[in-house]
Amino acid sequence: MEFNNVNFDTYFKNYPDENGFFGKYGGAYVSPELQKAMVEINDAYQTICKSAKFINELRRIRKEFQGRPTPISHLERLSNKLGNVQLYAKREDLNHTGAHKLNHCMGEVLLAKYMGKKKVIAETGAGQHGVALATAAAYFGLECDIYMGAVDIKKQAPNVARMKILGARVVEVTDGLQTLKEAVDAAFAAYCREYKDAIYCIGSVLGPHPFPLMVRDFQSVIGIEARAQFLEMTGELPDAVVACVGGGSNAMGLFSGFLNDPVDIYGIEPLGKGTTLGDHAASLKYGEEGIMHGFNSIMLKDENGEPAPVYSVASGLDYPSSGPEHAFLHDLGRVKYDVINDEETIDAFFELSRMEGIIPAIESSHAVAYGIKLAKTLKKGSVLINLSGRGDKDMDYIIEKYGIR
Ligand SMILES: *Cc1c(COP(=O)(O)O)cnc(C)c1O
Repeated sequence: MEFNNVNFDTYFKNYPDENGFFGKYGGAYVSPELQKAMVEINDAYQTICKSAKFINELRRIRKEFQGRPTPISHLERLSNKLGNVQLYAKREDLNHTGAHKLNHCMGEVLLAKYMGKKKVIAETGAGQHGVALATAAAYFGLECDIYMGAVDIKKQAPNVARMKILGARVVEVTDGLQTLKEAVDAAFAAYCREYKDAIYCIGSVLGPHPFPLMVRDFQSVIGIEARAQFLEMTGELPDAVVACVGGGSNAMGLFSGFLNDPVDIYGIEPLGKGTTLGDHAASLKYGEEGIMHGFNSIMLKDENGEPAPVYSVASGLDYPSSGPEHAFLHDLGRVKYDVINDEETIDAFFELSRMEGIIPAIESSHAVAYGIKLAKTLKKGSVLINLSGRGDKDMDYIIEKYGIR
């Protein structure tokens, strides 16, 4: 299928190019020493991703440890209530650890093992990436250092406990505002010191090449499974697919299965409290081109051109940029990016829980809210929503802040 001069039959061969570019977005804007490490990771990945041994081992792990394939559920009561459109959910909440992040963490740590590394390093904000990586490190028997701001450590006690129980070392970062940005800097600095024995594991389709490529490839299992399952369930493709976009990994996973199909694709960003800079994290909708954290993409900037402060009720979505492939698909028009605010998100959180017996993650609730909106505007058809994770982690916060609706 061709779309605005991009041939999607050969898309995955051509994007990114060998330097990690999706059009003008992506690349690897890092120091020479980190550049060396990225080249090493890319070389290893390019070899290993074609090896039957690696592919078969990852397949076995997905089946026997992660519990894949995750099912697609027909949201029948919700669809009947809304009327015209059939809604479906791809159940990444049923992936081991309760979210999609383990898909790329298992791939990244398996790669680390093949490269002979002894340790994996990452930062975490809300702790979700840290927990997924600590899980993968425990499975493969590698050391795991997770850098986390002191403020976040206090806020995210259950995830800190999970990481420690899984055997990870949680390194407290006390610089600056003591949150995610400082944790990223500390983790990168540690990686520069330790890259001979360690590998840095990025938590989304972000960062310097080859991470946006690798993480997309590892997450594409969502889209590959979903396409085949949907065809088997209904005999057709969905008319539309929807996923929330923070960094963009669960979305790229689902979208990659449908880019070459006549399917409308929607990426949903958090509008938070409103359109004022600082009140949302809708980078693709309101941002501009810029380089941060080693890659060129579309980002929200403050008056000095630095990454702007962002906000979302979903801590997994509050990042001032998105992966370079999303910026590319945005400009191309192949994926439509839209927004959902906090209020709509909380309503969708309760609606899916009440109507279907599925408590969605507050991140995933953004996609659910948009699916419901679409279902109200369309006359007929089907919409597949990516349920990126389960909402147990969000229940206390939602009840405290919003009460039971
Ligand atoms: C981290 C997270 C997200 C956002 O990350 P992406 O890379 O945009 O997918 C979405 N949903 C859940 C459940 C998460 O934990």
